[in-house]
Amino acid sequence: MKVALITGASRGIGKACALRLARDGYTVVINYSRSDDEAQKVLETIKADGGDGMTYKADVSDLAQVKQMIKDVDKQYGQIDLLVNNAGIVRDNLLLMLNMDDLDKCMDLNVKGYFYCAQQAGLKMFRKKKGVIINMSSVSGELALAGQSVYSATKGAVNALTRVLAKEMGAKGIRVNAVAPGFIETEMIDALSAEKKEEYLKTIPLHRFGTADEVAAVVSMLASDACAYITGQVITMDGGISL
Ligand code: NAP
Repeated sequence: MKVALITGASRGIGKACALRLARDGYTVVINYSRSDDEAQKVLETIKADGGDGMTYKADVSDLAQVKQMIKDVDKQYGQIDLLVNNAGIVRDNLLLMLNMDDLDKCMDLNVKGYFYCAQQAGLKMFRKKKGVIINMSSVSGELALAGQSVYSATKGAVNALTRVLAKEMGAKGIRVNAVAPGFIETEMIDALSAEKKEEYLKTIPLHRFGTADEVAAVVSMLASDACAYITGQVITMDGGISL
C-alpha cells in the first residue's frame, strides 16, 4: 500500500491529483477545509473506480489542525508516502490598495500551511526514510503580474522552500519538487473577466489554458520512480507563456 495526502483536494487541481493518484494505486487522503459535499463526492468517485481513501477536514493554515490530521492519517494507515501541498488562495490587489488581512490569509495558507504540512508529514517520512513531497507553486513565483504581489511572493517562497527542503531531506530518502502551472481552468480562472482571459491567451503560444488533469499528470510523474533522481526542481508547465 502507498498513501498520498493531497491538501485542498475537494475541487480544482487538488481533486484532479486525488483522482489521478488513486488510479496510480495510492490510497488517498482528500483534505479540504469547508466543502464537505464536494470532498465526499471525490471520495465516492475514487471508490466507484475501485480505489480507496478518506476525506479529512482541516484548515492547513492552522498548525494544530495539521498536527492532528497527520497524527490521524498515520494512525489510520501507518505511513504517508506522498504529500501534495496544494491548498492555496489568491488575493489579488495593487499593493497600495492591499488589505493586510488578505496578506495574512495568503501567507498563512500558501506559505505557512506548506511549512506545517511538510514538517509534520516529513517527520513520518523520516521515520521510514522514504517519501515524496510535491509543492503546488505557480508561474507567478517567477513572473511579475501587476496586482499579484502577495500571490507571487507566496509562490516565490514555495519555490525557495522546495529547493531548501530537497537539500535537507535528500539524505533521508525524501524527494521534494514543485510544479509551477500557468493558467489552469479551475474556479480560480473562472473569476477572470472575458477580456482578461483573451488578453492572457495572447501570451500563451499553445493558445489555451491548461487543465487540472494535465497538472495531475505531472504530479503523478514526479511522484513515480521514473523521477527517482529528480529533486529540488520547480517544473514549469504553462503552455510557453511569456508576459
Ligand atoms: P481552487 O479550485 O480554488 O481549490 C482550492 C482547494 O483548496 C479547494 O479544495 C479548497 O477546499 C481548498 N482549501 C482552501 N483553503 C483551505 C485551507 N485553509 N485548508 C485546506 N484546504 C483549503 O484552487 P486551484 O485553482 O485548484 O489551485 C490549487 C493550487 O494550484 C493552489 O496552490 C494554486 O495557487 C495553484 N495554482 C493554480 C493555478 C490555476 O490557474 N488555477 C495556476 C497555478 C497554480 P475548501 O473550500 O473546502 O477548503
